[in-house]
Amino acid sequence: PDERVLSIQLVPFDSTRKLILSRDITQLERVQTVHRDFVANVSHELRTPLTVIGGFLETLSDMPDNPALLRQFLPMMMEQSRRMQSLVEDLLILSRLENSPKNSANEKVNMSELLDTLMVEAEGLSQGRHQIRLQRDTPLWLWGNAQELHSAFGNLVSNAVRYTPDGGDVTLCWKEEGEKLVFSVKDSGIGIPREHIPRLTERFYRVDRGRSRGNGGTGLGLAIVKHVVARHQARLEVHSEPERGSTFSVVFNRAQMAEPEAA
Ligand code: ADP
Repeated sequence: PDERVLSIQLVPFDSTRKLILSRDITQLERVQTVHRDFVANVSHELRTPLTVIGGFLETLSDMPDNPALLRQFLPMMMEQSRRMQSLVEDLLILSRLENSPKNSANEKVNMSELLDTLMVEAEGLSQGRHQIRLQRDTPLWLWGNAQELHSAFGNLVSNAVRYTPDGGDVTLCWKEEGEKLVFSVKDSGIGIPREHIPRLTERFYRVDRGRSRGNGGTGLGLAIVKHVVARHQARLEVHSEPERGSTFSVVFNRAQMAEPEAA
């Protein structure tokens, strides 16, 4: 990782002499590698559902008068199409985050309202398969971007539900902790081995590819969280233990706290 990449060029200096120009292009090379990997990952993620749908359509066009086959294939095709839709939606969110101005976290966000919405969404995702709880201190308002916070917190909640087996617990918590304001999602799910934790917010990084895809994951949720957290001058903390569960916390500075607004 410490290797440097140099670009060496020989350019004419005068009629008899030449100059050797050397440029350090290590950073440029790194950016290009990340970009190439990203394009390869997106193509791969889209190719799989497209191949599946294409295969079903070919079979159906060979047997157009077979309603039983159609009934069998339709839900699977819809599932693959939903998978592509989620991926494209997450890609758009990421690209908007990367391209919009850094200072867009400047509206007053009513955390009570946001927590209520997240609870409804968590119940919807869980469909009664988990015990979902909400713990909160007095309602606090935050300077931020409501849409971005909703997207980031929503991803944490969705992960907690998706990586917690039926019968488990998911707790959303919003509290003041000394000089900090903390939003956290705690689950009693499968947990994450320690060595994976530093890489979780990389785009398309997954501990278990099959499990993530199987439960509707795009591999981009925590990359979105990372961007939103940085845009709110906050910090993401992860505590996890395999088989016991995980806690993802977003820690805000007190400076982000806003005066409550009249209803
Ligand atoms: P995905 O769409 O795959 O869930 P994310 O970026 O949201 O992508 O998360 C990256 C990976 O981190 C997941 O694939 C999963 O392995 C792991 N992960 C995230 N949240 C949890 C959690 N609450 N419990 C266990 N593993 C998790």
